[in-house]
Amino acid sequence: MARPERTLIQAAPALRRALLAWFAQYQRSMPWRSKPTAYRTVVSELMCQQTQIATVIPYFERWVKQWPDFKALAKAEEAAVLKLWAGLGYYSRARNLLGLAKQVTALPALPRTAVEWQEFKGVGPYTAAAIASIAYGEPVAVVDGNVVRVLSRLTGHRAQLKDAASATKQFTGLADALVDPKQPGDFNQAMMELGALVCRKAAPDCAKCPVAKWCDARRQGDAEKLPRFVSKARQTAVVERALVMRSGKLLLRRYGRDSRRLVGMAEIPEMVSLGVKPSGEPTLVRRRTIGTISYEERLHVLVAAAGSWRRWTSDPELEWVATETLEQAALTGPHLRWLREWLSLSGPKVRGKRP
Ligand code: SF4
Repeated sequence: MARPERTLIQAAPALRRALLAWFAQYQRSMPWRSKPTAYRTVVSELMCQQTQIATVIPYFERWVKQWPDFKALAKAEEAAVLKLWAGLGYYSRARNLLGLAKQVTALPALPRTAVEWQEFKGVGPYTAAAIASIAYGEPVAVVDGNVVRVLSRLTGHRAQLKDAASATKQFTGLADALVDPKQPGDFNQAMMELGALVCRKAAPDCAKCPVAKWCDARRQGDAEKLPRFVSKARQTAVVERALVMRSGKLLLRRYGRDSRRLVGMAEIPEMVSLGVKPSGEPTLVRRRTIGTISYEERLHVLVAAAGSWRRWTSDPELEWVATETLEQAALTGPHLRWLREWLSLSGPKVRGKRP
């Protein structure tokens, strides 16, 4: 173990006290922090992956109101689950949550340890540690991007890290050694909260940091440069999509079982999947990034010939959805947003337009 890590572990009792005192005073109020149970923790952790906390809060509240525990969720229909998740993205999380509810309610008792929780699909080491430490008091560390950032700065880890997985591996041993054995759940949440509020990616607020006196990066003045990751080559892709309206209904593609990520969700169909090519300029162009790929999404209003309607009717994934019911159609977040934009730009004229 490197010297900065040993120094930090020696200071662990004082560091824990400082961090927990700060957390008690400054933690943000979040609905899952009151009455933490395994269920509320797993729902919040899965929702918070890749998603901003402010976005998650109303989803979480609607979710636990509808399905307050694993038992209630286990009886839910997948379509209802996806509908409530619509807009949060990464829909496999919703399906995994439903699958998890079905599996754990079939057991005589809920699992308690991180090792047991990790056996379930969709529950990685991070989520398992969060459930076990927050709901059951097991002293295991949660290592997410915030914790990696805090620990890399505290220890002054300046070697390049390959990716998030190798960064997690690098800091898990240290995080486990630091976690408070009496309040592991609070300690883990405090580390993540520190990363989110004080030890931010840009402009860390070292003057307000409760653990500043143990921080190597603060001493060296290079906190903002840590952690260092090998830079990844960005790829770009262009996707042409068709906005097809007929008698106030929109043509959507609802993905079937073959879709890895989007089964049960609906999106604006790609032109290539309809057997048509774009002509002229798109009506809307929107950009988004998924992983390391930057997509340019080009949305074209398509006026199709009668033959096309017939061909599309035989495609089981295509369906017509009334514009008034778009909000209930389990559309993915960006697609619902783009359609709202297009409809508000086009006004009532387009809603009644017949090709
Ligand atoms: S002192 Fe600054 S860089 Fe170090 S942990 Fe605190 S906020 Fe992060």
